[in-house]
Amino acid sequence: MAEIAKLMDKLVSLCKRRGFIFPSSEIYGGLNSCYDYGPLGVELKRNVKDYWWKAMVQTRDDIEGLDASILMHPRVWEASGHVANFTDPMVDCKECKARFRADQIEGAMCGSPTYKGRKAGKCADEGKFTDARLFNLMFKTFMGPVEDAANLVYMRPETAQGIYVNVYNVMQASRQRIPFGIAQIGKAFRNEITPGNFTFRTREFEQMEMQFFVKPGTDMEWFEYWKAQRSAWYDGLGIRKAKLQFHQHGPTELAHYAAAAFDIEYEFPFGWKELEGIHNRTDFDLKRHMEYSGKDLNYFDDATRERYIPYIIETSAGCDRTVLTALIDAYDEDVIEGEARTVLRLAPVIAPIKAGVFPLVKKEGMPEVAEKIFHALKRHFPVFYDDGGAIGRRYRRMDEAGTPFGITVDGQTLQDQTVTVRERDSLVQTRVAIDKLAPFIQEKMAGYKRRE
Ligand code: ATP
Repeated sequence: MAEIAKLMDKLVSLCKRRGFIFPSSEIYGGLNSCYDYGPLGVELKRNVKDYWWKAMVQTRDDIEGLDASILMHPRVWEASGHVANFTDPMVDCKECKARFRADQIEGAMCGSPTYKGRKAGKCADEGKFTDARLFNLMFKTFMGPVEDAANLVYMRPETAQGIYVNVYNVMQASRQRIPFGIAQIGKAFRNEITPGNFTFRTREFEQMEMQFFVKPGTDMEWFEYWKAQRSAWYDGLGIRKAKLQFHQHGPTELAHYAAAAFDIEYEFPFGWKELEGIHNRTDFDLKRHMEYSGKDLNYFDDATRERYIPYIIETSAGCDRTVLTALIDAYDEDVIEGEARTVLRLAPVIAPIKAGVFPLVKKEGMPEVAEKIFHALKRHFPVFYDDGGAIGRRYRRMDEAGTPFGITVDGQTLQDQTVTVRERDSLVQTRVAIDKLAPFIQEKMAGYKRRE
C-alpha cells in the first residue's frame, strides 16, 4: 500500500517538476480536482488525441469528425435521460462531515483526523452516515443575463449527444451510408461527488468518443469488431498488455438501454479501473431524440428500401485518463552504472520530445554542430537542445521527460560527420551519419515495441 501511494506521489511530483501537469490556480491554493497541462503535458495530450484521431478518423473511410458545442438545447438532456437519471447517491458523515458516493464507501477512508487510517465502511457500520440522497452530476449555468429556469443550460456531461443530434447533418454532408461513424474529441463536465486520484476523476475532462451507426441485427457483430479495434489501439500506444483487461457489465451494471457493455480496464496503483467504455446502445438514443424533438430520425436505405432507426455502438474513452495511464505505465526506476535514474518509457508516438541533442562539451565547435542538427531535426519532429551540465545529467533529464533518443556530438563528429544515438530503454548507442539522422530515428520510432 505504502509503495503504491509512493508511486502516485512520485508521479505527481515528477509531473509538476517537469511541466507535465500542474494544480489549477495554484497560487490561490489550487482548485480541487482541476489541473493544468504544462509544456510537456500539453504535447503528450495532443499526441494522444492525434493518435486517436488518426486511428479513428483519418485512416478510415467510414468515420467522420465533428466538433459540437459544449452548451446544447436543454431538451437534449431531457431526451438523453441525464436530467432524470444522471445521478449518484451521496451520503455525509454526521460526525466529520466528509462526503462519499454511497456506492464507493468500500475502499474509501474516513475523513476525520481523529480516526486516521480508518475505513469509511466502519463508520457506515456504526451508523454515522446520513441516508443516501441522489445528486445530479450536471453543471448548470444560465444563458443570457437573467438567472431563471427558462434560461437554464447544462455544461455537457458527455460529448456523445452532440453526435446524435447531428447524425443526419453529417451523413448528408459527407454522403456516408450506414454503417458509418462520427468521432469527436472535446471537454465534458461532471460535478463528481468524490473526484480524486490525480487526473483519474476530475470535474472537467476531455473525452474521445466515437458513435458507430449500424443496421439493427448487425449490432453485435460491430460491437465485437470495435472491442478488438479499441483494445489494439492501447497496444499501439505502448500500454503493457498485462495491465489491461476487459470487464463485462453484468445485469446490475448494464444501463437499461444497453444490449451489451464492456469496459477496457487498466490496473492503476489504486486498482483495476475503467479507461474506456464500449457500449451497444441499441436504438435508444435516436428514438428518444425523435420523441423529444418531433423530428423523424429514421434512416432510409435506398438499396434495400428499408426504413429503420439505426443502432449505435459507442466507444467512449477519457483523454485525461489515457494520459494518466500512459504516464503511470511508463514510469520506471532503474540503476545505470551505479546511479539511480527515473525514466518514462513513453512510446515515441506520444513522447512530447522525440530526441535530445547534446554537444559533449561546450567547446571545439561542438555546440555549433549540435545546434545545426537541432534546427535540421526540428523540421521533422520535436527535439530539445541542451548543453548544460555533465552529459550523464543531460541524459537523465531527457529520460525523465520520456524522450526516446539522445543525440551526442563529440570529438569524432568533427572528423567523420557522425554522432552517437542513445536509446532511452535499451541504452544501446549507435553511430549514425548526420545526414541519415532523421530517417534513422523515424525508422526506430515506427518499429517501436514496448517491452512487457
Ligand atoms: P465512472 O463509472 O468511472 O464514473 P462512467 O462509466 O460514468 O465512469 P462514461 O460515462 O462511460 O464513464 O465515460 C467514458 C469515459 O470518460 C470513461 O471511461 C473515462 O475514461 C472518462 N471519464 C468519465 N468520467 C470522468 C471523470 N470524472 N474524470 C476523468 N475522466 C472521466
